[in-house]
Amino acid sequence: MLEITRLSHAYGKHQALTDVALEVARGEIVAILGANGAGKSTLLKAIAGLIRPSPGAVVRLGGTDIASLAPHLIVERGIALVPEGRGVFGDLTVAENLQLGAYPARARDGEAARLAHVLQLFPRLTERMSQAVRTMSGGEQQMVAIGRALMSRPELLLLDEPSLGLSPLLSREVFRALKTIRGDGVGILMVEQNARASLDIADRVYLIEQGRNAGEGAASEMKNNPDIQRAYLGQSRAPKSPATSSESGSLP
Ligand code: ATP
Repeated sequence: MLEITRLSHAYGKHQALTDVALEVARGEIVAILGANGAGKSTLLKAIAGLIRPSPGAVVRLGGTDIASLAPHLIVERGIALVPEGRGVFGDLTVAENLQLGAYPARARDGEAARLAHVLQLFPRLTERMSQAVRTMSGGEQQMVAIGRALMSRPELLLLDEPSLGLSPLLSREVFRALKTIRGDGVGILMVEQNARASLDIADRVYLIEQGRNAGEGAASEMKNNPDIQRAYLGQSRAPKSPATSSESGSLP
């Protein structure tokens, strides 16, 4: 559904992305892993049209190149970004934020049914429809942000750090909802600081280092790769073999 090749972007002299390539299929969760400053957020912003890719980039959605479209036209094509920090309107109510999500022309039909679906995904929003979003917890605000993105009837959802600052309980709720959204056939491309959680939920993973592709694979295989475990899962050594486990058993 989404196919990217040769995506580059420079902030002035700083080359943030160089020739990045990736794909996301319908009904697939793809996670991007990379160190701080690797270019992950820049990649999502470039797909959403918030920053311009350098000439030569190809960003295809359903076969159409969207690399040079304005952000609102990219939303009309079916891409919704939930930015880091959520981008919700704090002074507006939950209902108003969700309504704003349905503004694109592609979303005007079936708005009531979509709202019902969002409230089914995040039931705790139901009794808070008239609450100002700034008075809600971080996790609840994240639900509003994802709900608002879903109101635009996306084919592809881009998520930048969806679990940042959330309690474990609310993170689990958000990740559960993402699985349901995948089940509805939406593609999900997410950047997530919790590498373990991303590897648990994702179907495939891309590694980005210093703005370049540095690896890709099935999440289930990545999870068992000792290099990935060392770099992203905070494990200092490879899984123990029988010989090394008896050694470590003798450590003080
Ligand atoms: P993090 O995990 O820390 O959020 P990231 O992988 O999302 O990092 P980006 O935010 O995409 O990284 O930034 C990539 C590089 O581009 C970094 O070196 C960053 O300092 C730089 N950068 C990002 N935004 C700007 C900007 N508006 N102007 C100049 N440089 C920027």
